[in-house]
Amino acid sequence: MKIAVVGTGYVGLVTGTCFAETGNEVICVDIDQKKVDKLTNGEITIYEPGLEKLFLRNLKEGRLKFTTDLAAGIEEAKIVFLALPTPPGEDGSADLKYVLGVADHIGRLLTDYKVLVDKSTVPVGTAEKVYESVARNAKVPFDVVSNPEFLREGVAVDDFMKPDRVVIGTSSDRARKLMGELYAPFVRSGNPVIYMDERSAELTKYAANSFLATKISFMNEIAQLCEKLDADVDMVRLGIGSDDRIGKRFLFPGIGYGGSCFPKDVQALAKSSDEAGYDFRILDAVMQVNEIQKLHLLPKILRYFSGNLQGRHFALWGLAFKPNTDDIREAPALYIIDALLEAGATVTAFDPEAMKNVQQVVGDKIKFAENQYEALKGADALIIATEWNEFRTPDFLKIVSNLKKKVIFDGRNLFDIRAIGELGFHYESIGRRPVN
Ligand code: NAD
Repeated sequence: MKIAVVGTGYVGLVTGTCFAETGNEVICVDIDQKKVDKLTNGEITIYEPGLEKLFLRNLKEGRLKFTTDLAAGIEEAKIVFLALPTPPGEDGSADLKYVLGVADHIGRLLTDYKVLVDKSTVPVGTAEKVYESVARNAKVPFDVVSNPEFLREGVAVDDFMKPDRVVIGTSSDRARKLMGELYAPFVRSGNPVIYMDERSAELTKYAANSFLATKISFMNEIAQLCEKLDADVDMVRLGIGSDDRIGKRFLFPGIGYGGSCFPKDVQALAKSSDEAGYDFRILDAVMQVNEIQKLHLLPKILRYFSGNLQGRHFALWGLAFKPNTDDIREAPALYIIDALLEAGATVTAFDPEAMKNVQQVVGDKIKFAENQYEALKGADALIIATEWNEFRTPDFLKIVSNLKKKVIFDGRNLFDIRAIGELGFHYESIGRRPVN
């Protein structure tokens, strides 16, 4: 099948590459000329495990192409995916200017029947708005489908190739058939393609992300309570997670959720609820807890250094909002950096993939290290903000020989409390008893 994907960011590039991998001919369209040039020349623009190999293979086979020309990109496509940004507007609602702008443009270009697919995360009612934008100028029939994307950055290729489910919101039999054919190779193991109306599909995506964010904020509140009541959140987590109704996954407390999706999607759902005249009380709490949690290590650090960080130097391991990505949008590490600098401290950071992106944001306000141990040189303490695998079993002798004192503040609960205590570290984490 011939496919176009408009917007070649995290979602668009993974979508385009994975559809090419199953034999489709894909053209990815983006307004960013530099990005299109790089991709055309075989240079991948994001870090996503496993993506580069598929990208290069399909580029070489001629099944994956890139252009800035929307007209040429969609000309022969049967299905056109919109994987465009939907950032929060000033009032917190999703800004639809990219999606509706492209829809309007596509309306002027249509010469034959096509299915337009919203892959961006968009509020309920957007499929109707997209339809109207296209219909204003279109002279041929077309359909609009809502097909929200559930991939997780860091495991995006696996998630796309073997999705838990595919949600397709459409009221058109013709579009339903085409979408079913396109996704058939991805659900061979029996995972469901769930067909529904457009509005329910749109709400499904927000409900999923908001539920997951709620789970995180709930565990972060339990962790706060553990600290007050002298209990251990790891034990509580194991104790509740073994109940099937709760489940073991997504119960890890930490320094809050970040990324380009949870913060904006929870906010957008709260805004949609407001507009619909419903006060979605839980969402307000979820957001408030996350704001507090992002800086939860700070009072611990301040207490240890007697309330004064002036002239202190910190090593920071982890900048990405989660491991296995270079994405730093809404990353808790950025909030920690700001707070430390404001308190008069200095920072040397290390992250396996995200340092270039952070450098573009903070410039030379902090230093970056070649590796995780170099970041420790002369630091008063180590702060851990992202749970990259290589931080989980580090060489503690190297940590000791580089840090000024054996002090670790861990926002991701990477180490076993007893083991790190025996090594003589002062160690504070989230929802667990401080050591030494
Ligand atoms: P992104 O910012 O990484 O990519 C968006 C791309 O669109 C950029 O390359 C940008 O240059 C391009 N673009 C902007 N305006 C354009 C235009 N007029 N024509 C062509 N290209 C244009 O965004 P993303 O993370 O891929 O997210 C896209 C959508 O998918 C959002 O709605 C997001 O909420 C949703 N989503 C994201 C994820 C995720 O993990 N990143 C997961 C599921 C859903």
